[in-house]
Amino acid sequence: MNLQTAKKYEDLLTGTVDPSPFDYAMMFKADGYFARQRAKTRFKLLKAIERKLLGILRPQERVYWVTTGTTVTLAEQFFVGWMAYYLNRRALVFSTERVLLLEISRGNKPGHLVSQIPYTAIASVKSTWNGLCRVKLLNQKSYAFQSVPSADRKFLADFLRDITQGTNAPFERIQSLENMCPHCYAVTAGHPAGCPSCGGQFKSAGRAALLSFVFPGTGDWYIGHRGVAILEMLGACFWWLVLVISPLLLPADPEMPPITGEYWLTVAVILVIGHSIDALMTYNFARKGHYPLGSRLPAADLPPRLAAD
Ligand SMILES: [Zn+2]
Repeated sequence: MNLQTAKKYEDLLTGTVDPSPFDYAMMFKADGYFARQRAKTRFKLLKAIERKLLGILRPQERVYWVTTGTTVTLAEQFFVGWMAYYLNRRALVFSTERVLLLEISRGNKPGHLVSQIPYTAIASVKSTWNGLCRVKLLNQKSYAFQSVPSADRKFLADFLRDITQGTNAPFERIQSLENMCPHCYAVTAGHPAGCPSCGGQFKSAGRAALLSFVFPGTGDWYIGHRGVAILEMLGACFWWLVLVISPLLLPADPEMPPITGEYWLTVAVILVIGHSIDALMTYNFARKGHYPLGSRLPAADLPPRLAAD
C-alpha cells in the first residue's frame, strides 16, 4: 500500500504501508466529522503533489503536514482581482527542515514555481482574527496566507512555534523566502538567466513585461499562465476593437460628431496606461520565482535522485 494505491486516507493508517517521507499518522489524525473532511482534502492534495515533492525532498527529510494557502497583495487585488488568488495559490508543505511552497492550480496540479522558507528564518507564525496565517520572518518580511483552513492555521501556529523555538540552527537575518530552480530544485538567489547548479535556463521577467506591454496577455502566456493570458488577450482585443478598429473601419455616423485628433490622443493614453498596468503585473508575477525555459535537462545532467524518474 502506498499513497497512490490508497483509495482513502484511512488505508494509510492501518495495515502495511510502504516506507515514505510522509508522516501519515500526523497528517491524517482525525477526530470528528470536520477533521475527517480536512483529512480527505489533505489526502487529495498530497496525492496530487507527491511526485513533484519526492523530487524536491532531501534524503532524510520528512513531511509532517500539508495545506494550501494563497498570498495576494493589495496591488494584485486591485489590478488583477480574483485571478490573483489562482495565480498565487500554493501548497504549503511543512517538513523537518523547512516550509516548501509549491505553485498549484485550482485542481491542485503542481505548477513550476517552488520556493522555501527555512524554519531558521521564521520569527513568528500567528493565526489572526481576520482569517490569515501570518508568517513573520527575521528579516522583517511577512507573508500573510489567506484561505488556510482555520483548524490548520491553529495547528500550524502551535507546530511552528515549537519548531522555530526548538531549533539549534544559527539564526541568519539574511534568510528569507528562497526561490528554487524548477529544473534541479537548488536554491537560486536573485533573478539570474539560469541556474548556477544545473545550468537550466529561466524565463526572463523583462521579456514577459515587454511582451505584455506590446499586447496584454502575451507575457502571461510566455511565463505559462495560459488561462489568465487568454482572458487578458480577449479583454485587450475588445478594447482595441471598440476604441480603434471600429472607428477606423465603420462609416462615419452623420448624427455623431466627427472623430478628432483629440479622440485619438485620449485613446492612445488609455491604451498606453492599460498596456503598462498589464506589463507591471506580468513583471510582478514573473518575479515570484523561476519559470523554466526549455524542458528538463537530460537525465545524465541531473542529480542522481532526480534522474531516477
Ligand atoms: Zn538547477
